[in-house]
Amino acid sequence: MALPPGLPVVDHHCHLSPSGEGVAAARRFRAAGGTHLFLATQNYSGKVPRSLGEYREQFETTEALARRVAEGARVVVYPVVAPYPVDLVGAAESLGVGPALELHLSAIDLAGGWVRERRAVALGEVGRPHFAVPPEIADAATQAFRHALEVARESNCPVVVHSADLDADGYLDLATMAARAGVDARRVVKHYARHRIPPAERASVTPSFLARRDLVREVLHDSAPWFLETDFLDDPGRPGAVLDLATVPRRANQIASSAPADTDRLYVPFVESVEQVYGFRPEAPAREGGS
Ligand SMILES: [Zn+2]
Repeated sequence: MALPPGLPVVDHHCHLSPSGEGVAAARRFRAAGGTHLFLATQNYSGKVPRSLGEYREQFETTEALARRVAEGARVVVYPVVAPYPVDLVGAAESLGVGPALELHLSAIDLAGGWVRERRAVALGEVGRPHFAVPPEIADAATQAFRHALEVARESNCPVVVHSADLDADGYLDLATMAARAGVDARRVVKHYARHRIPPAERASVTPSFLARRDLVREVLHDSAPWFLETDFLDDPGRPGAVLDLATVPRRANQIASSAPADTDRLYVPFVESVEQVYGFRPEAPAREGGS
């Protein structure tokens, strides 16, 4: 069975790079049946930004890529921008913790401005390094994350969270921080969720699950909101990492052909969850080749 013609097929978190596959990767996504990409910014130079100007350039690169993908691959692209939480570690080494934190906060403000100007749909990735860091850096990262939540509230947008793998306590901690900042926990998206946490233990935080075959099957009947993502890095040094960009449409097609009764469940990550978390409804463009 084919996918329903009106169903958008959405990868909720990927990266593309001007020095990687770029538009060609998006064409593979499209050819496999994909229609919408949430495109998160990344550090394209390999060096941690040391000035606000470098962050502005980075976000502009993401925006330019989004435009080229929309035109060249006919995929709907939603840019997501913020300074990468791990940047704080490198910036603290070269600038000192205080100035590194100042820069990070300004870059979060810049990202908030982009959301308010509708150049981006969310702040991401924000959060904290996924590995142990010295206490003063951990404190700075927590301050930065709190600031990101406040900016998200002011900008009326979701945050896409980078963090270590989380258990139920970790979800609760995110929800508590969100509540303190006046942000609806559903608009806090834990990206790169690698295992299922039962919906009742998510403290209303939204997981974005890595689209591994076993995990997709496990979460398919969970109630909204939840997403699927590849966290495709478009790094020529790590081809296909984390998952290849064609993975989400491939999984969707596998479900349609092997478990047609479950096909309707795909509206949960691809439509309902986008609507609940982002406040807009993705519309599927016509598929090519009648397939
Ligand atoms: Zn990512």
